[in-house]
Amino acid sequence: MTIAFITGASKGLGYATAARLSDAGVHVVIGARDASRGEAAAAALGAEGVVCDVTDDLSVRAAAEAVRARHGRVDILVNNAGILPEAFGADGVDAFRETFATNLFGAVATTEAFLPLLRESPAGRIVNVSSTMGSLADQSDPASGYYGLIVPAYQASKAALNSVTVGWSKALADTPIKVNAVCPGWVQTDLGGPDNRAAAPTPPEAAAEIVTRLALLDKDGPTGGFFDVAGRVRW
Ligand code: NAP
Repeated sequence: MTIAFITGASKGLGYATAARLSDAGVHVVIGARDASRGEAAAAALGAEGVVCDVTDDLSVRAAAEAVRARHGRVDILVNNAGILPEAFGADGVDAFRETFATNLFGAVATTEAFLPLLRESPAGRIVNVSSTMGSLADQSDPASGYYGLIVPAYQASKAALNSVTVGWSKALADTPIKVNAVCPGWVQTDLGGPDNRAAAPTPPEAAAEIVTRLALLDKDGPTGGFFDVAGRVRW
């Protein structure tokens, strides 16, 4: 059976991805920073819950250890946990520190901790949940729908996550592990502040399709790429 670990899967896109992967027959381990929210999500899906606060190295390592003890390996790691504090008024260097702690350092810490488990898989897959808002090409293109959006800490954190996606894909090129970044579109979740759910066009259930697609890539699939539902996204 294929084993997946998803960070930030208590709600939103992470939860919807867990549901889609479960429907595809994958055994999903829900990572959640809050034990009760994680257990509730896991119970709703018939999945497993493990506490994992990606900003806390001890918590991340304990989560990897718990998964190792139960399963001995992981086939799919989805680095989904993410925040956008600028949508809630955060500003300046504090916004950068807070955002990077989750969106970049959290993904790096989780990948480091789970890499030995992914190496035990015959076909490891890492999916970094990024955003077209981290695309430098889009940020600097006046014709882009993202041109007017200025949340520099969030955008820089996703650009950095895109960069490590390329780096990891090259570092792991001699293994079966594939590493890709995805943009799920603009999704009806709590990420973008109180008005986001009403404004965003895409339900999490639909947005989870691209995450699931990259998580279930076959051996001929790409690595080191950046994708949305329509295909490749410009870096
Ligand atoms: P969301 O509904 O706010 O969910 C975020 C998830 O991340 C929650 O489960 C949250 O847990 C978890 N989380 C936050 N900090 C964490 C930490 N330190 N450790 C572990 N989990 C943590 O937002 P979402 O839209 O589903 O976001 C999921 C991913 O999609 C993010 O990486 C985001 O950047 C990306 N994304 C979203 C959109 C969009 O339009 N929504 C667009 C592009 C990319 P709690 O339940 O404990 O808060």
